[in-house]
Amino acid sequence: ISMASPNVNLSDHLSSVKHVILVLSGKGGVGKSTVATQLAVGLKLKGKKIGLLDVDLCGPSVPKMFAVEGKDIHQCPEGWLPVYVDKEQQLGVMSIAFLLDGKDDAVVWRGPKKTAMIKQFLSDVVWRDIDYLIIDTPPGTSDEHLSVIDNLKAYNPDGAILVTSPQAVAVGDVVRELTFCKKTHIPIIGLIENMSGFVCPHCTECTNVFSKGGGESLAKKYHIPFLGSIPLDPQLTQCLEEGKSFLEHCKSSPTVTALNKVIEKL
Ligand code: ADP
Repeated sequence: ISMASPNVNLSDHLSSVKHVILVLSGKGGVGKSTVATQLAVGLKLKGKKIGLLDVDLCGPSVPKMFAVEGKDIHQCPEGWLPVYVDKEQQLGVMSIAFLLDGKDDAVVWRGPKKTAMIKQFLSDVVWRDIDYLIIDTPPGTSDEHLSVIDNLKAYNPDGAILVTSPQAVAVGDVVRELTFCKKTHIPIIGLIENMSGFVCPHCTECTNVFSKGGGESLAKKYHIPFLGSIPLDPQLTQCLEEGKSFLEHCKSSPTVTALNKVIEKL
């Protein structure tokens, strides 16, 4: 991987961004990247300009979810241009996956190189007048998170959205994330419980597979806003696999209704 640094004033590209939101989860597989992509699409459908930055260095999945894997990143004199996923160029994506040779390549880097890459990602991407920068982070709390937060501090990020699944609520992963945000002084925008119930592909009725409401009561207990429950929906999985816009294709799904309710709160 080679990524020479363009010679620009590092702060320029982020200083005009109105909202910076981090998406965090205690562990992998709870749907953090899915939620990040759907929030980005939902805000775009409301007419906002969005940048989605995928700093999940070990498992970058955002390009796949938009079917833009393998695209080349282009450089202009001011920095790196994001890959736009829509023809209006309202939603731009930047991911480590664009820099890997093969889609199954893994990043095996030591800490300092990861830190440098994150810094470069945050400073050198030319976002151009975006309203929201949504940052999809790796699962857990790691040095990568600290690098992101250190580099963002000067821009007053709005805060973090925590994503959990009903099972993860029970094992304390979310509490660790809460503590991390508190220690690093990152405000918590709120908690989302994903995979909360199952939407039948035939009749779109939602059934609770695991006990429901864990996320909401946890949010209450720790005095953080509860942003909503997003059901598990096979149509969403299918849209993500095919790179289709779930929010536009499956308007009658309760999952779309739930996502739209969360988006209203941002
Ligand atoms: P994470 O980023 O937390 O590791 P992902 O967003 O990659 O998790 O999601 C893991 C898998 O679960 C993906 O295949 C995704 O399509 C699927 N998924 C996530 N949330 C939902 C949902 N609400 N309904 C259906 N499938 C989902």
